[in-house]
Amino acid sequence: MNRILIAEDNPRITSFLETGLQANGYTTTVVSTAKEAIAFASGTDFDLLILDLGLPDADGLKVLATVRGQGAILPIIILTARDGLDDTVEGLESGADDYMTKPFRFEELLARVRVQLRNQRSSRKPQETQLRIADITLDLLTRQVWVGDRSVELSTREFLMLEVFLRHPMQVMTREQLLDRIWGYDYDPGTNIVNVYVGHLRRKIGDDRLETVRGAGYRLRV
Ligand code: CA
Repeated sequence: MNRILIAEDNPRITSFLETGLQANGYTTTVVSTAKEAIAFASGTDFDLLILDLGLPDADGLKVLATVRGQGAILPIIILTARDGLDDTVEGLESGADDYMTKPFRFEELLARVRVQLRNQRSSRKPQETQLRIADITLDLLTRQVWVGDRSVELSTREFLMLEVFLRHPMQVMTREQLLDRIWGYDYDPGTNIVNVYVGHLRRKIGDDRLETVRGAGYRLRV
């Protein structure tokens, strides 16, 4: 059984995380301050830390630096309301393994938790955080994308959309599935945002990669 430490001071988010993680077979412990997070994460009691950056007594980045400084090797996933590239880069450079920007979908967090725990079991090979279908490669940790040898810059939502397609190659993804997985609870049902983002992705990864299946949705052509 995997033991997950949650360092987060917002009770709505902690209860959302605990409910979901416990339903998936994990045990959870919640702390709400940086001080407790450092004390708990430094031992060997936990297999993974979910770390909010906005803690009341200190910045989560400080927790990260302290815990890593003490030699803790458990995977750490940062939760942040900030989506600035600087914070992300700083977090990853300070020893975080992945990050999620709030608001987030539980399923997405769960997928990231599983990736981290799987990597830990197989001695944390960084290559295993890459998704590769045909000549498209997506690095889930660094958020880098390559098409062949060409590196492609994607926004957060474009990245998520490509990730969904790579996880379901040759499968038709409906507009609703894409909305649900990428925008979560955060969308207007009448929106045409999926078409807009498919357009962005086509421009960046090549027109012929995403096929429109009339009346059904979109499919990654491999
Ligand atoms: Ca907070």
